[in-house]
Amino acid sequence: MRNKVRCLIIGSGPAGYTAAIYASRANLEPVLFEGLQPGGQLTTTTEVENFPGYPEGITGPELMEDLKKQALRYGTEIFPGRATSVDFSVRPFKVTIDNEYVIEADTVIISTGATAKYLGLPDETKYAGQGVSACATCDGFFYRKKKVAVVGGGDTACEEATYLSGLADKVYLVVRKPYLRASQIMQERVMNNPKIEILFEHNAVGLYGEKGVEGVHLVKRMGEPDEEKIDLAIDGFFLAIGHTPNTDIFKDFLELDEVGYIKIDNPTSKTNIEGVFAAGDVADPNYRQAITAAGMGCRAAMDAERYLSEKGL
Ligand code: NDP
Repeated sequence: MRNKVRCLIIGSGPAGYTAAIYASRANLEPVLFEGLQPGGQLTTTTEVENFPGYPEGITGPELMEDLKKQALRYGTEIFPGRATSVDFSVRPFKVTIDNEYVIEADTVIISTGATAKYLGLPDETKYAGQGVSACATCDGFFYRKKKVAVVGGGDTACEEATYLSGLADKVYLVVRKPYLRASQIMQERVMNNPKIEILFEHNAVGLYGEKGVEGVHLVKRMGEPDEEKIDLAIDGFFLAIGHTPNTDIFKDFLELDEVGYIKIDNPTSKTNIEGVFAAGDVADPNYRQAITAAGMGCRAAMDAERYLSEKGL
């Protein structure tokens, strides 16, 4: 493996692979490290029906395999391995892989994604892919005319509940506090939606069902003298309690927003450090879709190419 590259891509979701396709076709000879979860979040979903170009849909793992093949076809070198630390204070930049070795890079494209938060219930794992989801846009379609619960009280939860109300017959919004944290407009939207019922001061503590999720165990006013246990029949259980962008190793160098997303100079992929670019969910608190991530990956590769040619690197 080369220990000095012109373009290093960290992460192997749609953003990373698309950056790799564009960077390799532009002769940047990119090297890509796949990270902890090769293929990214899409490898944990089943059917992907909203990625343009697949009229019959495609499974998440297959889509990622296709993107990887396309990147390999143009010469991207792809390795397993996780970036464990970076030094963006020197040029070329230094990126340590698996705490073991260091690669030097003239440009770095960060596409490490974001991880949806889960409650941490064993049942979330037990029913993974069988009624538990952290993405309404990805999986909502499977719950047409069914009953679903969305956990969370922020903008994401309200947005997901609103989206799901266009498909499902009934949407319960399970909120642990007696109020919503979401913006006013989103709050009004859910409160005025006849299909959405907000369950304030409810905590989800478990799921039940023989073949997939058939219901959720809730506790109302948990820990209070009038605490009440309730079982609610549902077909789908959606988590919308926030995402954690995977930016820990960059925080000493890059400007992050208050949640931890990398700040970019929209509409470019430029971070506050010249030569370091960010693409996909790691820099996108709003859309977090495979197709938007892919678009951002394209921008990052084009930005890297322009930077390298301007600097004569
Ligand atoms: P937030 O952190 O804003 O909200 C998370 C919600 O989940 C809160 O209601 C929180 O409850 C709840 N929650 C967290 N942990 C648990 C838990 N263990 N059990 C039960 N409930 C829990 O995350 P979002 O993803 O909603 O939003 C992130 C950022 O992105 C925000 O700044 C938001 O405004 C922005 N955003 C904007 C959108 C838009 O403008 N269209 C769309 C989506 C997101 P509690 O209040 O009790 O802490």
